[in-house]
Amino acid sequence: MGGTVICPGCGADIPDVPELRSDHLYVGAASGCWAAYMELTGRLMADPGLLEARLLSVDAYMAQHPGVRGRQAGQSVWTHLVGLCLALEFGLSGADSTRAKARVAAPHATFDWLEPPASLGSITVLEILATASPLDHRVAVERWAGSVWTAWAPYAEEVRRRAIGVLER
Ligand SMILES: [Zn+2]
Repeated sequence: MGGTVICPGCGADIPDVPELRSDHLYVGAASGCWAAYMELTGRLMADPGLLEARLLSVDAYMAQHPGVRGRQAGQSVWTHLVGLCLALEFGLSGADSTRAKARVAAPHATFDWLEPPASLGSITVLEILATASPLDHRVAVERWAGSVWTAWAPYAEEVRRRAIGVLER
């Protein structure tokens, strides 16, 4: 009871939440990290001005918690990396990015497993939660997303190609 675990995704040292352990399926996150993310989502949802930050936080969190090799996790990683690319490099709004991301999962699309880099960035959901004002939330989410995207840089070229592919379709 009361122990902490290291999140296999973001590396945060975080309280274990046993009752949530089976709640997040293929996401490679410690249960306490997932709980922190749910808390952040609630906070971002409470403020309509934070819609963009909320949509970006989904891509940041999921790309930072790729999970283990498998079709579902592989597709998820690709989809959310494309989301980060569309937002950060192409400047798409959350709504436009969501529409484009839906096309990543085309019927015959394949998803090569991208072996995650050793570090997925030094910023975790805990830092975003620690910020107080809506403006601070937004700035922190943007820094977080940038840090995750930078961590995945070895695959940036492939992801960019896929992002351009869904924009052209
Ligand atoms: Zn985590």
